Amino acid sequence: MNTTFGSRVIRTLTVFCLCLAHHTVTHGDDPEAASKVADREAISSKDAMTRLVEGNDRFVRGNSKHPHEGKMWRQQLVSGQSPFATIVGCSDSRVIPELIFDEGLGDLFVIRNAGHVVDQSVVASIEYAVEHLDTRLIVVLGHDNCGAVTAALAPPHFEPRELSSLVNQIHNSLYFNRDPNVYGKLNITQAVRKNVMFSVRRLRANPALHRCLKKHNAEVFGAVYHLHNGRVDWLEHRGDPAVSAKQDLEDKNATQAGTSTAGK
Ligand SMILES: [Zn+2]
Repeated sequence: MNTTFGSRVIRTLTVFCLCLAHHTVTHGDDPEAASKVADREAISSKDAMTRLVEGNDRFVRGNSKHPHEGKMWRQQLVSGQSPFATIVGCSDSRVIPELIFDEGLGDLFVIRNAGHVVDQSVVASIEYAVEHLDTRLIVVLGHDNCGAVTAALAPPHFEPRELSSLVNQIHNSLYFNRDPNVYGKLNITQAVRKNVMFSVRRLRANPALHRCLKKHNAEVFGAVYHLHNGRVDWLEHRGDPAVSAKQDLEDKNATQAGTSTAGK
């Protein structure tokens, strides 16, 4: 082989390998990462939240990596999963957790229904994620212009029985104490936030789930996704004593509301 031809071949192979490496990383086929999926250590709620915040920031900026989609990664997932966060979100087609947090297959344990209403199946699914998958961050994710919340704000009208029941549950979460200063006066933005925080408090106040969360050092937080810019806003600043005291009171009220509506 003459030298010029040989060096050209080497250059071509080098470029090919670099392209392959780039392809591998951007599509989540990193063999080292893939080999660790089954025995990946649990990620703390704080680190999990940081990862979600960073992923959402990439999504907002148009710099998504689309990780963990490749063939090798999928093969690793056949034998098990180790999601680092649980998302309790709305079924709305515009709010897909894996996309807005720039995560991939096996990264998020996702539970969705219209308006992210907390019921027995949602609580049981979270218990599974915490007890068996060691997921330590649970995020209740609402979003702008939620159709289910809009329906709960509107005057009652005929819907199939199950749908009416779901909308009523959201209505009760918005106005559970019938405060005359609030009743019938919420706009959709306020209602979305209130519905998220009600779900958060219902989860924190559930006795069985509370024990489960405590045992595994897991936490529940609320967030709202903005349709116009893709940004996820986190709704609390835990650690502020004034905010915490107010939240404790609201948690207590939510528990009472949950108890009084149970079985109806
Ligand atoms: Zn919605």
